[in-house]
Amino acid sequence: MKKRDYYELLGVSRNASEEEIKKTYRRLAMKHHPDRNADDKTAEEQFKQIKEAYEVLSDGKKRAAYDQFGHAGIDGGAGGFGAGAAGMNFSDIFGDIFGDIFGGRGGGGGSHRGADLQYNLEISLEDAVFGKSTEIHIPTLVACDECHGSGAKAGTSPVTCTDCGGYGQVRMQQGFFTVQQTCPTCYGKGRIIKSPCSSCHGRGRTKQNKKLSVKIPKGVDSGDRIRLTGEGEAGESGGMSGDLYIQIQMLPHPLFERDGKNLYCEAPISFVAAALGGELEVPALNGRVKLKIPEETQTGKVFRIKGMGVPSVRGGEAGDLMCKVQIETPINLTAKQKELLNQFEKSLSVNNKHNPKTNTWFNKVKKFFEEMKF
Ligand SMILES: [Zn+2]
Ligand SMILES: [Zn+2]
Repeated sequence: MKKRDYYELLGVSRNASEEEIKKTYRRLAMKHHPDRNADDKTAEEQFKQIKEAYEVLSDGKKRAAYDQFGHAGIDGGAGGFGAGAAGMNFSDIFGDIFGDIFGGRGGGGGSHRGADLQYNLEISLEDAVFGKSTEIHIPTLVACDECHGSGAKAGTSPVTCTDCGGYGQVRMQQGFFTVQQTCPTCYGKGRIIKSPCSSCHGRGRTKQNKKLSVKIPKGVDSGDRIRLTGEGEAGESGGMSGDLYIQIQMLPHPLFERDGKNLYCEAPISFVAAALGGELEVPALNGRVKLKIPEETQTGKVFRIKGMGVPSVRGGEAGDLMCKVQIETPINLTAKQKELLNQFEKSLSVNNKHNPKTNTWFNKVKKFFEEMKF
C-alpha cells in the first residue's frame, strides 16, 4: 500500500511551523479518535495515519529525514536516521500531546493478572502432623466494590485501545530496527478508560486486609507451599487474580526432630536398665508408647517405633518414630554406692567376657603400636 504524504494527511503546508502541526494534530486526533467513532473502521485507520504523520513531523530529525528522503528516510532506507534517533523516546512525544487531550494517565484499564502473594506461616510440629485450620490476615489489593474491578465509572466501560489493538505493545521503526514498545496510548494496558471510577481512581483495585481461612493438610513440612488459587492480588481492571502461596515453616519442638516422615527423639536410660533390660515409656505426638529395652542394650542404640512418625501428605504410610537411648552415668554417688560399684567392677575383671567392645579396642591399640616403624 502506497503511503500518503504526511503533510497532506495533516493538511498543512511543507513549511508549517511546529506549533501549527501540533494544533492541527490535536484537532484531527479529536475528530478521528476511535473512541468517538466506535465501529467506524475508516476512522480508526485515519487516526493511525494521522498519528504516524504527527510522530514524524513533530520530531525535528525525523522531519528533516522525511523532507529529504520521503518515507524511505523514515522506514530505515538509505539516508535514514540511524544512531541519531535510537535514543528517541516515542511515548514522550506522543504521551505529551495525547495526554493533554484525553486526560493523561488518569485511569488506565486493561486486564493484567494480579500479583502472586506469599505468606510465611509458622506452625508447630503438632499442627504439621495432625493438620489444622487457621485464619490468616493478608494486606492485599481486592477488586473495587464500586466498579467491580473494571476501573470505569458506573454505566461506562473501558474500551479496547485501537492503537495497539488491545495488545499493549506497538511495533516502532527506529532507524534500521523494528522494536516492540509499550503502547504510548494505553501505557501497555490494552484498554482505555475515559471516565475513571471515583472510588478506585480507575485502578479497579483497592487495598484491603483480607481474612482467609487456611486448611493445613496433615504431613506438611518446612519449605512446603500451599497454593490458594485466585487469593492473591486482584487483577487490574477486572483481570485475573494472582495466587496466594502459603510458605510453611515448622517451629522447633522441645522433644522431637523431624526428618521427612520420621521423627527422632532421645531418651536417657540408666546403665542398670541397659544391662538388665526393662521397659521405657517414650513420648509420642499422640500419647505414650511403651518401649521394651532388651538386656545388654548399648548406648546410642536406636529403636524404631513403626507408624508413630508423620503421616504422608499424599496419603501413603506414616513415618516412624526413632528413639535413641543414651546411657546416663550416675552422679552424686554416696560412699556406699561407690563401694558397691567397685565391688561390681572387680567381679567383672575375673574374665574378659563382659566388655567385648573394650577388648576389641585394646587389641586394635596394641596392633597399632606394634606396627609403628620407630
Ligand atoms: Zn494501546
Ligand atoms: Zn472502582
